[in-house]
Amino acid sequence: MNLDVHTLFQVTVYVEAILGLLLLFAWAQNMAVRAVAWWGFAHLIRASSIVLFGLYGSAPDVLTIDVANALLFTAFAVTWTGARVFDGRPVEPVYLVTGAVLWLLVCRLPVLTNAVDARALIASAIITAYTWLTAWEFWRGRKEQLVSRWPAIFMLFAHGALFLLRTPLVALLPFAMTKEKMFSSVWMTVLSFEALLFTISIAFILLAMAKERTELRHRTAAMIDSLTGIANRRAFLQEAADLARRHDSDPRPVAVMLIDLDHFKSINDRFGHAVGDRVLEVFTAAANESMRASDLFGRIGGEEFAAILSDTGADEAFEVAQRIRETFAQAAHEVDGRPVAATVSIGMVHCDGPVLDIAELLSQADQALYFAKENGRNRVEVATLDMVLRDIGNTAPAHSDPAAVARSAA
Ligand code: GH3
Ligand code: MG
Ligand code: MG
Repeated sequence: MNLDVHTLFQVTVYVEAILGLLLLFAWAQNMAVRAVAWWGFAHLIRASSIVLFGLYGSAPDVLTIDVANALLFTAFAVTWTGARVFDGRPVEPVYLVTGAVLWLLVCRLPVLTNAVDARALIASAIITAYTWLTAWEFWRGRKEQLVSRWPAIFMLFAHGALFLLRTPLVALLPFAMTKEKMFSSVWMTVLSFEALLFTISIAFILLAMAKERTELRHRTAAMIDSLTGIANRRAFLQEAADLARRHDSDPRPVAVMLIDLDHFKSINDRFGHAVGDRVLEVFTAAANESMRASDLFGRIGGEEFAAILSDTGADEAFEVAQRIRETFAQAAHEVDGRPVAATVSIGMVHCDGPVLDIAELLSQADQALYFAKENGRNRVEVATLDMVLRDIGNTAPAHSDPAAVARSAA
């Protein structure tokens, strides 16, 4: 296949410009990911640099080599800055222009004026430095699990490596690199073609990263309670269902808790809604402090929370519930200087059977919570068979004496 390098140059300019505009258009649609604008500008800068390269021979070398390269390095530096911005790191204005300034200074050195190989090596080293730095920025942010992060790292690393190898490869050519031979060289075609493929793939990979980030954030936002930062009802029930599935193949003892703040309406009425919100945050902190990180915990309603402690015995679970209750009572004694004295009631059920029926366990924990409220609040009640029988036998539980109910059930 014969590829005319001039045609390749022209195609590359168009492609770079279109990709740059495409990225800027994508950014205009979703300005939340600012990096996309940086990446768009990088392509436009590269397009202008390639226009200048294309004028080699018909315009002064200072424009087609020195300035063209300085623009090219800036384009790679802008992509790198975009990667920093993407992962929330600050822009480094000095390093952003270091490559271009270094290059322009080097071009002024008399000793390097005619040293084509040395200049090519310096140019390649600058591009490699920026592409590897970009790959490294993406690598540093790998905790955010975006699938498209990995092809981006690979492409940038490979492109940087190819640029670094370029100079030794060119030196292996059987003829000297002259102005006339420059455009007819096979390597020039190969490198130009690679640059074209790289620029197309990296633009789409970066765009995919931005899209994946936005989708991930939306998904997360839909699962997190905005006030307390813990799982919302939907996320909690989803995680509970996952746990139930795992339980089928590997049954472990499990405790389910329903937690409801006591007289919360009166707290709102006396101290205002803002203090009420603070109390919910204080409760979340107290509960998190009292449980393991692996326990499921979510806000399932206004002032109602649920927790599932897996691989936990009945006594241990009761202790955890008491600890949550006591830690919160202490922490919420005074909130923002107000004598709030908030407390919680907890209904708990323990299950060490082979099947984990989450809906059934939540319903039993709810019965226990009802008893905790009935028995004076600020207490933990564990669901018993009596409560379950009462639940089955009485569709509308009256505010009756639980002891009497227990007796009648027995
Ligand atoms: P009990 O001890 O029986 O549970 O009484 P309670 O007052 O806590 O229960 P009730 O269900 O009567 O009131 C719950 C209150 O919680 C009413 C509602 O305004 C308040 N609430 C629900 N969500 C929020 C919230 O996000 N912030 C605040 N500040 N209040 C909330
Ligand atoms: Mg309630
Ligand atoms: Mg309540």
